[in-house]
Amino acid sequence: MMIRVAKTPSETITERKDEILNQIDSSSNKFVEQLQALCRQPSVSAQNQGLIETAELVSKFLKETGFTVEQFSPSKGPPIVFAELSSKTGRRTLVFYNHYDVQPVEPVELWKNPPFSAIVEDGRVYARGASDNKGNIASRLSAINAFLKVTGTVPCNIKWVIEGEEEIGSPHFSEFITRYKERLTGDSAIWEFGGLDYEDRPLVTLGLKGMLYVEFRVQTALKDSHSARAAVVENPAWRLVRMLDTITDEDGRIMIEGWYDDVKPFTQEELEVIRAMPLEEHSIRDELGVKNFLYGLTGFEFKKAFYGNPTANIAGIWSGYTGPGHKTVLPSVAQAKMDFRLVPNQDPVKLAGKLKQHLVRHGFADVEVGLQAENPAARTPIDAPIAKIAARAGREVFRKEPVTLVTSAASGPMHYFTNILGLPTVAIGCNHAKSNTHAPNENQRIDVFVQGSKWIARVIEEFAKQA
Ligand SMILES: [Zn+2]
Repeated sequence: MMIRVAKTPSETITERKDEILNQIDSSSNKFVEQLQALCRQPSVSAQNQGLIETAELVSKFLKETGFTVEQFSPSKGPPIVFAELSSKTGRRTLVFYNHYDVQPVEPVELWKNPPFSAIVEDGRVYARGASDNKGNIASRLSAINAFLKVTGTVPCNIKWVIEGEEEIGSPHFSEFITRYKERLTGDSAIWEFGGLDYEDRPLVTLGLKGMLYVEFRVQTALKDSHSARAAVVENPAWRLVRMLDTITDEDGRIMIEGWYDDVKPFTQEELEVIRAMPLEEHSIRDELGVKNFLYGLTGFEFKKAFYGNPTANIAGIWSGYTGPGHKTVLPSVAQAKMDFRLVPNQDPVKLAGKLKQHLVRHGFADVEVGLQAENPAARTPIDAPIAKIAARAGREVFRKEPVTLVTSAASGPMHYFTNILGLPTVAIGCNHAKSNTHAPNENQRIDVFVQGSKWIARVIEEFAKQA
């Protein structure tokens, strides 16, 4: 005769947790196939390739999983997919952000397989978008599917935004936020990327730098002419470089009046986390073959500068003749592009105004300034509950001490979530350090894809339990 022993509530919870994680394992083939299907559908936003079709495919997978799905069509640009799934048991709401567009595949000759073939080799799916960002989409679908299969519901409400223009700076995302602001209420958010570092430690990223992107144009004559006239006609390239030279000093400090006025310095706690962060110094030095860093930066000062300093970078500069051999030409036009990375509390619109005033004050009122992109920075406090949950769940799933990044040195539209919707936001996911995002042979490790789904599942469950 079998004796039934009543289970304690914690035993029941542990079993259910295991059932969900087992479900992720047992359905992993299906979701790897979904990832392959997503990758085989090209979706290059920079080339307007396949975006509507991909929005449809993403919507189809969301509906099959159990979401209610709608597509928002901005005035221009591809649809933004918005999906919702209500919980039968929990009241809290978690919001996901992802993107279905990808970077261009060029140079295509450097790929060992066709970029949209999604071939599996050495335990990886190789394709443009496999890691950035379709891997994360399919992995999250797998986590949610597991809850629905095991418990018939999700422990908290899920709202999911998947846009199609992240790789070109999300030019129509603000339209969507304005229209959907009331519906995007929630308690916390999970950002599109994240995963493992070079030593397979889980990374929890809490912010992104902002961006002001401008193009300068100087014209000194109606047309190019013989360079003999350089004795009497001004050269626009000289004028451009003299103007650029006023923007930073020799120590790299940005000399535009008031540029640092609103910069929010790191808190003491953030500085402690930065101190504990692994040093990227050696990997950057080896990768780029540079002997020393700017201003002799090293150690803690290197990390503080990397994650905390606003930058003024010349991204491109051109004028006159740059082909082989020589051509004695006096150009009429010179141009440059600059990206300024911003940190919390710097307002890109205000700074664009300061940049224009700076040019006038320094005698460069004739230099044309074209604004190409502007995004403020985003940062979630390190003591936000979702940050702690993400770190704890990462440690549990990967059995390694997680690394918290106060901010990434990169940029993106996270500020809509943190600053406008007021959602504490963490970036976690299933990427790995050698995934070649934006480069040839982009790939998604299947083991990290599955473990990343478990990470998301554990975060959903722990987040739902909070009062
Ligand atoms: Zn990307």
